[in-house]
Formats: sequence, structure tokens, C-alpha cells
Amino acid sequence: MPSTKAPPRETDASAGASAAGAQVFLPTPLPWLAASLQTLVTQYTGHALLLHGAVGDGAHELALRLGQAWLCENTEPGRPKPCLRCASCHLYGQAAHPDQHWLLPEEMALARGMPVDIKPGRKPSRQIRVEEVRAFIDGLSTTTGRGQGKALVILPAEAMNGVAASALLKTLEEPPAGTRIVLAVSDPARLLPTIRSRCQHFRLPPPATDVALRWLGEQGVPRAETLLRACAGHPLDALGLHAAGVSAERWLALPQRLADGDVSAVAGWSPANALDALGKLCHDAMAAAVGGPLAFFDGAPMPSGLDLMRLSQWHRSLQGFARHADHPWNEPLLAAALAREAQDALRPPTRAAASTSTSAGR
Ligand SMILES: [Zn+2]
Repeated sequence: MPSTKAPPRETDASAGASAAGAQVFLPTPLPWLAASLQTLVTQYTGHALLLHGAVGDGAHELALRLGQAWLCENTEPGRPKPCLRCASCHLYGQAAHPDQHWLLPEEMALARGMPVDIKPGRKPSRQIRVEEVRAFIDGLSTTTGRGQGKALVILPAEAMNGVAASALLKTLEEPPAGTRIVLAVSDPARLLPTIRSRCQHFRLPPPATDVALRWLGEQGVPRAETLLRACAGHPLDALGLHAAGVSAERWLALPQRLADGDVSAVAGWSPANALDALGKLCHDAMAAAVGGPLAFFDGAPMPSGLDLMRLSQWHRSLQGFARHADHPWNEPLLAAALAREAQDALRPPTRAAASTSTSAGR
């Protein structure tokens, strides 16, 4: 993916007023990121920053906003950066600022509504490739367009393989004058030690539950507490589940529907969403089998007669599916196979003993 340009099409209220018809890529600021953003702006003055955090908590949005703050031209005393009012902030929101450089995988860029040049027949990449890193670095050699330096945002940094990351090392060590770089990463252990050692580190705290619930309510998510719990407290993931058509009622009905052999229970879900949901259900079924609390399905009717041995086999099978997540699945067949496996794992032992293993579809 070439550098530059960016995310969802929610309108940044102030930027939206700037240029009629211009597409605004940055989403409306997430309220729980404000304190972290000001900490980063005022206390992290190094030229390279590694930002650890969950994507579902807004780690990528924070990295993008930090780039906007670095380029913000506001001089009004007491107004935090980014001001979202100045010309620089407006240009950045429209991915039109000459000094903003964003590097992200093609698949993620497309999901964010960004234009991506891909030859017909080629799948969008999930990685940041070495040639993209080199082109990105070459783009830094020009003089700055607006005199505030340059802001580089790389996300997710773990999308760079070893060769691509190595190509970035010299720039991280000695960036061109006035250039600042932020790399967002969910798991720093997946980065080269040489990348980690060249950066200041900041860990994004998860949002407080009441803040996340209020925000989800403002986005029109009903019974948000159920979806937030389903997503381990990550509000952007909960919003994604809602956007994928998974209501709280549908989520809570999932265990019993699967136990009853309802193969439509996960029909229409993407393989990633189905595998994620079933992995969480398997976890909670194991917890229920030993009398423990449910992490993701609290409040859901859970089938009785759960057997740890069968649930363990199901867990291993789900891991096998997950290892082949990139397989070009026939999605309806996969959903049906996953539902049948779930039924075998969840129904009472007497019926399960008579069942046959279903690993079809792999
Ligand atoms: Zn500004």
C-alpha cells in the first residue's frame, strides 16, 4: 500500500465544514482517547513512538490523531492539539496534507474506505511489504510542505515482516530532520527487538466500562453491555459486531441454538467472526462445565450436560480452523461444518455418543 491517506467516513464535525464535498477519512474523536492523546502530545517528545494497544480500544485511531497533533498549526493558548480547526487539521482529516504519511496494509486501507491501486486479480495484501516501506522512506526525502515537519503513522507495525521492518531501522534511528514516527502495535513481542529499542513506548489503557457503554449507546447500539462483554470490553469491536448484524439477543441465543442443531446460527457470519464467537463460546462452555463464571456469554442460557473431554476436542478443532483462516473457504459450507461441530460438543453426552465426527468442509 502506498503511504498516505486514511479511515472510516464518519465526519469530523469541524473538519467537515472545511471543504464542501471533500471526503473526510478520520472518524469522530473517540472520547476515551483524549487523555492519552494529550499525554503523548505534551510528554513524549522523541522522534519515534511505539504505541501498544488493542485495535478495539482505538489504538490505531490514537496513532492517527497523534500524527494530526504533530502537524497542527494552532497557536491559541490553552487549546489542545489537534485543534481540529486549523488548515493543517482540515487537510489531515481529508488525507490531503503534504506532510502526512500513513503506511498500512492494502486490506486495512480498503476497509477504511481509502483508495488503493490493486491490479485486477490480485488480492489486497494483509502485510506491509518491503517495497512499500522503501517507497515510504523515499517519500520522506522531499522538503516539508507546510513547515511543521512530517508525521509518519505505521499501523499495525506487526504487519511488517522481518525484511520490511529491517528496511525501516535506519529511518527509525535517524529520521530526516523534523520527522516524527508513530507505530501502533497490539503485541510488541511480535516486533524485532531492534525496532522496539529505537522507540519510546506508550501503553494505551482500555476505556472505563461506563465510558465505553455511553459511547456505544451514542452510536445506536442497543443492549450495549452484552456486546461489550462479548468483545472483552473493546468498544470498537462491539460496534463492529453490531454493524455485522449481531444483536445482543442473537449473541445470547447462540449457545442454545447451536446445541439444538440450528445450522443457521452462524450463517452469514464471516469466517473470522464465526471462529471468534465459537472460540469464546467454547471457553465459556468449559467454564460452565466446571461451575465457573462466563466471560463472554454471561446471561445466556447454557446447555446442560457439558463434557470437558468433548469441549477440549472442540477447542483443538477450532484452533485447526483458525490456523487456516486465510483459506479460501466456501463460507456457507464452513458455517454449516462449524455449527455441526458445535452441536456435537454442546449437546448432552447420550446424544453425542451416537453422533459422528463432523470435520467436513476442511
Ligand atoms: Zn489544528
